[in-house]
Amino acid sequence: MSSGDNFAFLLPIMMATFGVVFLIVARHGGRGAAAWGIGYLASGAAFAIPYVLGALPVVAQALLADALFLFAFVVYASALRSRFGLSPRWRSDIVLSLLAFAAIAYAVAVRGDLRAELMIGDIACTLLLLGPFARGLVRARRRIDWAILTVTGLAMADNILRNSLFAGLAGGDLEGFATSTYAFAMQASGSILALFLALAALAATASDVIEDHREAAERDPLSGLLNRRGFEMRSPAFGPGTAVRGTVVTCDIDHFKRVNDAFGHAAGDRVIAIIAAMLKRDLPAGALAARFGGEEFVLYLPEASPGEAVVLAERARLSFSLLDLAAAGITAALTASFGVAAVEPGDHSLHDALARADARLYAAKLAGRNRVIADGLSAFASAPGARLSAA
Ligand code: GH3
Ligand code: MG
Ligand code: MG
Repeated sequence: MSSGDNFAFLLPIMMATFGVVFLIVARHGGRGAAAWGIGYLASGAAFAIPYVLGALPVVAQALLADALFLFAFVVYASALRSRFGLSPRWRSDIVLSLLAFAAIAYAVAVRGDLRAELMIGDIACTLLLLGPFARGLVRARRRIDWAILTVTGLAMADNILRNSLFAGLAGGDLEGFATSTYAFAMQASGSILALFLALAALAATASDVIEDHREAAERDPLSGLLNRRGFEMRSPAFGPGTAVRGTVVTCDIDHFKRVNDAFGHAAGDRVIAIIAAMLKRDLPAGALAARFGGEEFVLYLPEASPGEAVVLAERARLSFSLLDLAAAGITAALTASFGVAAVEPGDHSLHDALARADARLYAAKLAGRNRVIADGLSAFASAPGARLSAA
């Protein structure tokens, strides 16, 4: 066995290994991972045909390999589409590959024309990737997306350039193809690009899985807001040389226990989701909103002065008190209390501002609930409908 044979034998093994790894990642929820896995298994099977089914007539081997490659590229195209949030185009991709297969079958079985077979196969595979590639260029956001698109672009260029420039090296007949320089070049470029594409797609799907788990660990499912951990992970770091600014708002629904007692826990849950959606809707860009357990919410507004934060809290207080909650199964009007505190120069973390906001929230409860309390902002107390107090 020559060194070329050894090298060629590695290709199906490498492809099948990646196929299996992708299928394992798919079990953990990686978007598009199942499609990458099936595509790599099909390509691996196509490259394995001369070794596994070498006893078959050459025409049958060629047709089987071409069918598997076309199938693999249909699946790769769907993996790319899912990567970039595009809807699948199964019907047109399958029609394209069936037409290509019919043309290849004619070229191989009737004409014995190897050059036509290679050309049709390469053009069809390139066309299958072209749509998701072009639309992916517009939608790519992360560096890993660009890596996938770069390798896909190189694979398409490899298909077309190899075909147009070097098809003469294929030997012209099917029998001699496997040992031709062209077949060697195809396997060499195919292995390198398949390896890079697999690594980029694996990195992308694995980072999707990690991101999904991180999201689940840092977000509260009932409200869709950050949980305490998510809030802390995104809180700004305090320390020498950093000048953290902004304002913290805390909010707690008034007499929420009575809501649960009178209307049931499920209705209480719906109220939590409603107030969370309301808080999220009015949030300025870059702000954090979290549910710190129960019916307590925390906002961090990095760009807001205490005055601006009070306006936002007051608007939320008023909107909440005016909400018609009949759809949530609640016939009573509900209110909430708010505490507002700015980050101050001596603070060691956001917790310092949070503790002051909590103290003001507690003062709001003691003062009769349904109000916003901030420090030194009594001017807002005269705003229409406002119940604002200075701590
Ligand atoms: P206050 O005006 O003093 O805040 O009175 P409150 O009844 O709201 O008192 P507190 O904030 O201490 O009560 C929290 C209640 O919220 C206790 C519990 O019945 C309810 N609660 C906590 N978590 C959940 C939840 O996830 N869903 C529902 N439905 N209720 C919850
Ligand atoms: Mg409460
Ligand atoms: Mg509470």
